[in-house]
Amino acid sequence: MRMGIMGGTLDPVHNGHIAVARAVCRACGLDGVMLLPAGDPPHKQHRADKADRWAMAQLAVGTLDWMSASDLEITRVGTTYTVDTLEQLSAAQPDVEWVYIIGADTVDVLETWRRFDRVAQLCSFAAVGRPGCDSAQSHAHAAQLERAFGARIQFLDVDGPAISSTEIRNRVAANAPIDALTPPAVADYIRRKGLYLCAMTWAEIDRALSETLKPARWRHSLGVAETAMRLAPRYGVDPQRARLAGLLHDCAKSMPCEAMRALVQANVPDADVLEMTTSQVLHAPAGMVVARQKFGVRDPQILSAIRKHTLGGANMTAFEALIYVADVIEPNRAMYDGLARARELAETDIRAAARYCAQMTSDYVRSRHGVLHPRTAEMLRG
Ligand code: ATP
Ligand code: MG
Repeated sequence: MRMGIMGGTLDPVHNGHIAVARAVCRACGLDGVMLLPAGDPPHKQHRADKADRWAMAQLAVGTLDWMSASDLEITRVGTTYTVDTLEQLSAAQPDVEWVYIIGADTVDVLETWRRFDRVAQLCSFAAVGRPGCDSAQSHAHAAQLERAFGARIQFLDVDGPAISSTEIRNRVAANAPIDALTPPAVADYIRRKGLYLCAMTWAEIDRALSETLKPARWRHSLGVAETAMRLAPRYGVDPQRARLAGLLHDCAKSMPCEAMRALVQANVPDADVLEMTTSQVLHAPAGMVVARQKFGVRDPQILSAIRKHTLGGANMTAFEALIYVADVIEPNRAMYDGLARARELAETDIRAAARYCAQMTSDYVRSRHGVLHPRTAEMLRG
């Protein structure tokens, strides 16, 4: 029996992995292919945790009868080395001949695999071209590995499609569609769990914020995230994106004023004087910059919702209004006049709720003889 192995970080698994596996399976007459997500690979950082990558691998395999998913590496403790996997597989199934399926970019780095000499004994390789890789160079490299390690590398005369996990992660972060790049069930999983929305996992975001914000501020941020997430579907907003904006809306709040001001001056060209000099407002444009620079947020609607969460603005989108309102009504807020009405409005009309919150701000500013920011005033006119 000859079995293919399609291994990798699979962060996430995509149509390229499946197309390449299918092409090799047919061309080499394999009896099947095992999709093998790595646990903790030595060469690579991954961005979704093991449980999610394993869940996506299972979804990708779905009902394909020629492909199965294996959790051999996911469940192993410690760094994942292919040599250990192959030793394990060969011992368990001595009659199987293993064919490791790789793209040309992997051919270029094969000898960095731990104990590659042993790996080369335990399996052969089926390699395909990869857009962006110099195929002549990969062929030459394969020949070198054959000479040096006795590696058996068969190059198929086919290129994988122009799809990579990196591209998928970038597209998700920018809120661009990925449906043509992954199996539908995987795209749906990514959306439901809010994977790849920024450069950190949810656990990393929690850690970063809980370490920098004061406990009450952190509780408040969790409340805003939860409120925004709950109300999001009513207003056609993606709940996980709303959750991220809610969590991050105050992410700059623990910075000293001077540092916030310098950050905004250098990165937000349209910040005005009032925004720069009012300390309760400054953390919003500063938060937008921190969300971008530290957390790797790329989605324009998340960034603008953070920017506008203190002053609001004319013609706010449902997303922006949702974060603006959630900041006011989240469950940890102490009760005051108007809060109950704001909460009620938020359930049915988020823009009306936003205008109501802006009116409360206006009343408060006037009572203290302050100057209402023109952007908040515009909201009340609109
Ligand atoms: P990343 O962008 O995170 O590196 P990736 O798309 O390269 O992700 P991996 O999990 O790193 O996916 O790849 C696993 C294996 O599949 C590697 O050997 C890689 O060369 C191969 N592979 C992935 N996508 C393609 C593709 N589109 N064409 C050919 N080979 C591919
Ligand atoms: Mg790769």
